[in-house]
Amino acid sequence: MLTVTDVVEYVFCPKFTYYSSVLGLKQYEEKRGTVKAGRRLHKKHEKTNIAYMPQLFSGKKLVGCKYYSQKLNLSGKIDEAIESQNEIILIERKYSDYVELKDTLKVQLGLLSILIEENTGKPVRKAQIIFSKQNRIVKNFQIDEPMKQYALEMLNKTKEVISSSIIPFSEFDNRCLNCCFRKICPTGSLNTDE
Ligand code: SF4
Repeated sequence: MLTVTDVVEYVFCPKFTYYSSVLGLKQYEEKRGTVKAGRRLHKKHEKTNIAYMPQLFSGKKLVGCKYYSQKLNLSGKIDEAIESQNEIILIERKYSDYVELKDTLKVQLGLLSILIEENTGKPVRKAQIIFSKQNRIVKNFQIDEPMKQYALEMLNKTKEVISSSIIPFSEFDNRCLNCCFRKICPTGSLNTDE
């Protein structure tokens, strides 16, 4: 079963999916400082301050829940959510100061919303993202049908790479500089000095 993280990785770079999910190469991401700091942030909020309710929201707080879809062959884990009688509002935490709705975040929110809706029967129309690294900035985003359709399209493309086992095309850019597969990937290694 694929995870939401697998699809987010495809959006980061299709070749990344080939190395991790087709060749089964380890990411060794636990050695990267930002990944470790991000994990610490999520763990801290799963264990402490569980009752904290963001301003303007009311309802039951859900923390670290996992959802599955047999139909999509997909699973995903949320950071937090607020469940009211009529809807569920997703809350995600990002260890970053870049406050923007990037494609990777759109796919994460879209797929998590689909999983929540399928499992609970309640709509997910909003998400609150808490960006915190040097600063703490809270942003609210709408989750709409185009976002969910885009997320499903990326899920299907991820499945295509895995089922075809053909290495996909990716151009060199700034992503490669922080990619854990840079040294074994021709696109990354032939364009950098290391
Ligand atoms: S080095 Fe660049 S092209 Fe290669 S997998 Fe990483 S991000 Fe993709």
